[in-house]
Amino acid sequence: MGSGMTNTPSPEGRDTIDQDQFLTILSREDALARFEAALFPRAVASEQRSLADALGCALAEDVVAPIDVPPFDRSNVDGFAVRSADLVSAGEASPVRVMLNDEVIACGTAPTRPVLSGTATPIATGGPVPRGADAIVMVEHTEPAGHRAIDIRRAASPGQFVSYAGSDIARGEALLRAGTVIGSREIGMLAACGIAEVTVARRPRVAIISTGDELVQPGHSLRPAAIYDTNGAIVTAAITENGGEAKFLGAIADDEAQLESAMREALASSDMLVLSGGTSKGAGDVSHRIIGRLGKPGVIAHGVALKPGKPLCLAVCAGKPVIILPGFPTSAMFTFHDMIVPVLRRMAGLPPRSDAKVAARVPVRIASELGRAEFVMVSLVEGADGLIAYPTDKGSGAITSFAQADGFLRIDALADQMPAGSEAEVTLFTPHVRVPDLVIVGSHCTGLDLVTAPLAHAGLTVRSIAVGSLGGLSAAKRGECDLAPIHLFDEKTETYNTPYLSDGLELVPGWRRMQGIVFRKDDRRFEGLSAEDVVRAALADPACIMVNRNQGAGTRILVDRLLGGARPDGYWNQPRSHNAVAAAVAQHRADWGMTIAPVAHASNLGFIPFAEEHYDFALATARKQRPAVQAFLDALASDEGRAALEQAGFGLA
Ligand code: AMP
Ligand code: MG
Repeated sequence: MGSGMTNTPSPEGRDTIDQDQFLTILSREDALARFEAALFPRAVASEQRSLADALGCALAEDVVAPIDVPPFDRSNVDGFAVRSADLVSAGEASPVRVMLNDEVIACGTAPTRPVLSGTATPIATGGPVPRGADAIVMVEHTEPAGHRAIDIRRAASPGQFVSYAGSDIARGEALLRAGTVIGSREIGMLAACGIAEVTVARRPRVAIISTGDELVQPGHSLRPAAIYDTNGAIVTAAITENGGEAKFLGAIADDEAQLESAMREALASSDMLVLSGGTSKGAGDVSHRIIGRLGKPGVIAHGVALKPGKPLCLAVCAGKPVIILPGFPTSAMFTFHDMIVPVLRRMAGLPPRSDAKVAARVPVRIASELGRAEFVMVSLVEGADGLIAYPTDKGSGAITSFAQADGFLRIDALADQMPAGSEAEVTLFTPHVRVPDLVIVGSHCTGLDLVTAPLAHAGLTVRSIAVGSLGGLSAAKRGECDLAPIHLFDEKTETYNTPYLSDGLELVPGWRRMQGIVFRKDDRRFEGLSAEDVVRAALADPACIMVNRNQGAGTRILVDRLLGGARPDGYWNQPRSHNAVAAAVAQHRADWGMTIAPVAHASNLGFIPFAEEHYDFALATARKQRPAVQAFLDALASDEGRAALEQAGFGLA
């Protein structure tokens, strides 16, 4: 239990939901309000920074212009400095002749002679206007008239082509206000005034610690059952993006004493501490218990009605925020952006983020947990009447959802779903919507990457959304994608894919995937057998464990056909991908399963071919002429594309 819980004030009218695992779950709004109340108001520390190092910082004070810019009256053109009164009668038919003074005012040259009536001085753009002159005549409106004289064929108004001293920036004027974030434009203004250093809000020093016995830093090799530390890198980058000075201290094992000393040390030398992992209330989850010993008031909220992100722990120790983010990377990232970024930016003197938002229609129903504000990552594609937002979530453990998503939508805590067809507000991860050139929705295959590679290299953006064959067909019918990759066997006609097409869709033949049995090459039980005999041998051996596939997968139909109603050990292990089957066998969690040849070969497993599957594309005929679709069809038919597919172990149609 969070020992700091007793320190939490008990406000009236709070909306809390009691759970047995977490003592008190606070609503998102309530948790954030309490966290901010415990931290603000506070003084923002400031520091001097050179212009070059001030980019992205917020000014701590107003900057007053110390000089006029320009510092003198300056010519805006190449020409002649004149007295406008001399040229009152000048015209095309009546040029006025003036004598040239004996100097040329280049940039950086201070004039030495006055412009007296009847004279002019040659001057370059940027040159200081000499005494006596009040206008500049462009060189194009003059003609040489013998030695040291010119004819001028136009009148000049006083002030013509002159920028007066202080007309850009006036000495004593407020140049930039406190709080302004310094970008290249601000740096330009400061440089124009000769300012080399500014007082900015000091970037909060933020220490980052990952926790978990299983974590290995990128660049090192993975031992069995270990995973790479993702949060360390994510949080470090997100802190830098939001005005903090991030210091990543590595991953610490789930050891209370070790972690406590690391946390104490980190907190002593920083303004804020962000940990991730170990915030559930399990036996190995120790970080939240340590917080109670690090200073008052301690834990402010442990358990927030967010999905993903319920185990988030917010604390303040001796005035410094201490945060434990949930372990799953996407949960860590969402909670960081939603709950920590506002606090970090305030400490950094930066304005709140202004993320771009767009309206989009949700094509499928999204189920949501009642009582928790839910974030759902979405991919945006262009529909017939506006943007469509496809949920891309693969569960809170999946980091790739972020890369494939354009933004996210939020489902209110009080809703248990977002119905298909709903209009939703999507918060973008980027400043603008980037609608992909080619949208592929359906069954995923590694062969797709081989065919679309030349499109990406040609600057076309390709978005592939994996929703399975049937989901892809529906999307194609609704006009939400260009191509739907499918591999659907029709028992009646004993053919692939064609029977599933409807009006407006045509079939583009793709490639063949050999499905077969995988086993470890050193497993003598299966060597040299046919697929049918492998299954017979496996069923006869009670020590043998299989790995199956999920209901609805084309592969599952083949497995069931081979098993003929048998349910051997491992039947209920039903992962959702070809790769998971190969991983289960390679890691000795199972002895055999069915997957496609390229995946078996990539995992260096034995492979016994069983049936060839047709992986084709349903193409929306209305979209066939689009340049990106044509580029895809070209790539698919090209010698390079076919060679790449063959090389990777696919069969050609
Ligand atoms: P925990 O809250 O520590 O039980 O972690 C929940 C899940 O997130 C576990 O699957 C952890 O392995 C995973 N996890 C925790 N920390 C990290 C991290 N820094 N990078 C990647 N995954 C993590
Ligand atoms: Mg852990």
